[in-house]
Amino acid sequence: MFNFEVSSLPDRFYIIGGGPGGVGAAYAISKAGFKPVIIEVHDRLAVKPCGRGVPVTSDIPFGIPKSIVLNKISYVKLYVDRLKLFKAGGWLNGFIIDKREFLEHILSETRADIYYRARYNHKSGVARLGGETIDVRRGVFSGGFPYYEGERIPVVQYILGGSLGDVEMDTIEIYFDTEILGYYYVFPHGDNVEVGVGGFRDHNTLWKLLDKFISKDSRLKNSIVVEREAAVVSIGGLRLGYINGLVKVGEAAGYVLPLTGEGIRPSIISGYIAGEALAKGLDPIRELRRLRLSEAISIQRRLLEWAKRLSVEERRRLISTLTPQAHAEIALGYFRLHKLVQNLIFKPLTMVKILTKIIGL
Ligand SMILES: Cc1cc2nc3c(=O)[nH]c(=O)nc-3n(C[C@H](O)[C@H](O)[C@H](O)COP(=O)(O)OP(=O)(O)OC[C@H]3O[C@@H](n4cnc5c(N)ncnc54)[C@H](O)[C@@H]3O)c2cc1C
Repeated sequence: MFNFEVSSLPDRFYIIGGGPGGVGAAYAISKAGFKPVIIEVHDRLAVKPCGRGVPVTSDIPFGIPKSIVLNKISYVKLYVDRLKLFKAGGWLNGFIIDKREFLEHILSETRADIYYRARYNHKSGVARLGGETIDVRRGVFSGGFPYYEGERIPVVQYILGGSLGDVEMDTIEIYFDTEILGYYYVFPHGDNVEVGVGGFRDHNTLWKLLDKFISKDSRLKNSIVVEREAAVVSIGGLRLGYINGLVKVGEAAGYVLPLTGEGIRPSIISGYIAGEALAKGLDPIRELRRLRLSEAISIQRRLLEWAKRLSVEERRRLISTLTPQAHAEIALGYFRLHKLVQNLIFKPLTMVKILTKIIGL
């Protein structure tokens, strides 16, 4: 329970991690008139490998400056098992961003102090800052996926340059793979492209699958590898709570949309909400639970569980049946379950069978 008065709060709040979650928290804490102190083990912000795709939605607490936008996205092409479903656009918008520059820009608008190459010890709850040992007890923990206790899947990706054929630089391409229950993606990245895959296979298998995917794409097969990156994403849903009195946010708390792996926006928002709650003397867990985003993560997690129960063929049918709008709403987390029923109810009997199976009627 939070029973202290705002006036008795110390001037500073500590933040573990210089990723999107930590920077979102720093922004809110600074805006509320307090001093954020960020502890980052690396020598820079935003170290986690990432596709850097951010949808334009109204729930991000600050604007995305043009200077950090690598590509403006207006279209999405969706495939299931290599078969094209649709190209949608006009009503969808997003950016491929320079994640580090974005976070640096946000931090430049705060009063944050940042300690690089400083490790927080999550067992003892202390950190060495500027030669001093500090007992870090009040603030936000945004250390990312290593501290997440739910299900995680690997994601591997290349940044490809050189000869790229006619990849459209205002379009993201998503290729669902019903076998691995994941997807390949082709995102523009400035003049280069990011090509990756995430799913229910180990890292080695995903690398092999990705190489095969690239070799079959005539636009990509003569490209050169600029970067090769791999990590995991935490897709098991929310795990709210504390580490040594620090409230968990971002990926450490499960703020990733389980069906898409989108984590930048959810991490920023969760960091912001928790930071704001701490600064105002409110219960951050209660504020996080109230977020529409938290509900969206739970719904997507449930949909993922259902998808696991379906056969490959049933998954394919389900994905192919949804309208572009339904796909977009599910992906962004603005989805209501009754809409899924509406999407399927007038479909042939097989659709009703799928529905019956996934909701266990
Ligand atoms: C290949 C790949 C592609 C992705 N593509 C996208 C995408 O296109 N769009 C999207 O929205 N999301 C994407 N994601 C997910 C997204 O990158 C993450 O969900 C997001 O970065 C999580 O932010 P965070 O702040 O919670 O954690 P992180 O970004 O992981 O930041 C955690 C920070 O904490 C620091 N840290 C950890 N432990 C300590 C410690 N003990 N002491 C001090 N510092 C510590 C780390 O060094 C790190 O800087 C992708 C993920 C992967 C793996």
